[in-house]
Amino acid sequence: MAKYIVALDQGTTSSRSVIINESGEIIAINQQEFKQFFPQHSWVEHDPEEILQSQLSTLKETIQQAKIHPSEIVGIGITNQRETTIVWNKNTGKPIYNAIVWQDKRTADVCEQLKEKGLQNHVKKTTGLVIDSYFSATKINWILNNVKGARAQADNDNLLFGTVDTWLLWNLTNGKVHATDYSNASRTMLYDIKNLCWDTKLLNELAIPISMLPEVKPSSYHFGNFKLEECTIPIAGIAGDQQAALFGQACFNKGEAKNTYGTGCFMLMNTGENLEYSKNGLLTTIAWGIDNKIHYALEGSVFVAGSAIQWLRDGLQIINNAEESEILAKSITEENPVYVVPAFAGLGAPYWDMYARGAVFGLTRDTGKNHLIKATLDSLAYQTKDILEVMQKDSGVKLTSLKVDGGAAANNYLMQFQADILNAHVERPEIIETTIMGAAYLAGICVGLWKQEDILKRRKINNDFSPSLSEEKRKKMYSKWQKAVERTKNWID
Ligand code: ADP
Repeated sequence: MAKYIVALDQGTTSSRSVIINESGEIIAINQQEFKQFFPQHSWVEHDPEEILQSQLSTLKETIQQAKIHPSEIVGIGITNQRETTIVWNKNTGKPIYNAIVWQDKRTADVCEQLKEKGLQNHVKKTTGLVIDSYFSATKINWILNNVKGARAQADNDNLLFGTVDTWLLWNLTNGKVHATDYSNASRTMLYDIKNLCWDTKLLNELAIPISMLPEVKPSSYHFGNFKLEECTIPIAGIAGDQQAALFGQACFNKGEAKNTYGTGCFMLMNTGENLEYSKNGLLTTIAWGIDNKIHYALEGSVFVAGSAIQWLRDGLQIINNAEESEILAKSITEENPVYVVPAFAGLGAPYWDMYARGAVFGLTRDTGKNHLIKATLDSLAYQTKDILEVMQKDSGVKLTSLKVDGGAAANNYLMQFQADILNAHVERPEIIETTIMGAAYLAGICVGLWKQEDILKRRKINNDFSPSLSEEKRKKMYSKWQKAVERTKNWID
């Protein structure tokens, strides 16, 4: 009998269900977008019921599309948008409020209060994070304080909290299992990533009863069962999207890193079983738990990456589509004197200057649009180098190759320039759907379909970009970039 793994990829804008065969090939994929709610400025919500239904209906369609029988599905892996917060009543199964999405900034003031109380150091040491509205903790607090009757229900032990993985798991198991995995727990800003328990001090500060919180399990683990047409399918893997991508890229060893080039960039480096704190504003997070071991990761993000290419298309209107940027950038064969710093919303790691704003440097009379296009693509690579430099400092590991994925990783010009400016190999895998593969691998390993070694063996590189720039040129260009960044700082009052 054939054996298949199902990966449920619950993202910020859509839910996807994917079927993967025993050879690790995607044989069917189905996607459904769902509504985004913006009830007020800087608020972002999703309907948890719609998330669940979109996930279930894509699952059904994918099974039909693949023409397989549910009895052939040996395991389900879940990967999800991280930090997004759902609170529901455990008796009715109904959410008491919409899901508050990771992008939502309504709790910025609560975060300020936590900072005023001097909790930064505690948060960093315990959770590996910085105090920010991005994470789940203050979102739970907001729901308990602002939804009518929520506090009383919580006091009576009737409420459950979950990130999206937990919400799906609870529903797929008919309310039997209330759990999450280490990677998702480590994004709540409530989880002690060293002692592997919920942190009482932060729970008390935010008045969150511990009874609301899910059990935390390894990422490759038999969480529970999903019943589908008389078949019992184990839910056997869970990881947050970025950690799943790290696993899907087979970054199993200390010092291996991946960068996802989407709207922004997300870079994660596996730091092995050692918990490394960053001195340069990166986050420490749990990569996954597997085989009774915890792997940690350093995480850094670039706010503006692919969205700078969207700016070329929609703002400046000098390209028709993102793909075109590759050919136009390649038309400039000499060294580009133009530098674009896309600090549209300030500068993140390692500069942390929210008063910085974007700028273009090095314009001359013969500057044309292609110089700007090339310089904008270059900025993705320079920002990646900025993060990687501090990651190497923090971890003490020198990186020899970077694994890449995400929409803009399709750009060959960008990937070659990335290799040149990093002086490291840039490896683009054949299967670019690394998040999905990560969730599938975690489940497949748990049910004994695959071993970690098989995944490594099977991994195919579609392109290996080797560095070919001279040391002298690389240094000169990177120092020009740094000079440009310096000049964007502290621009607005
Ligand atoms: P997200 O998951 O954040 O929505 P994706 O991984 O789908 O992002 O990637 C989309 C982003 O990548 C867009 O911002 C787009 O501008 C950029 N992009 C897509 N293709 C290319 C390309 N060939 N060259 C440069 N940028 C690209």
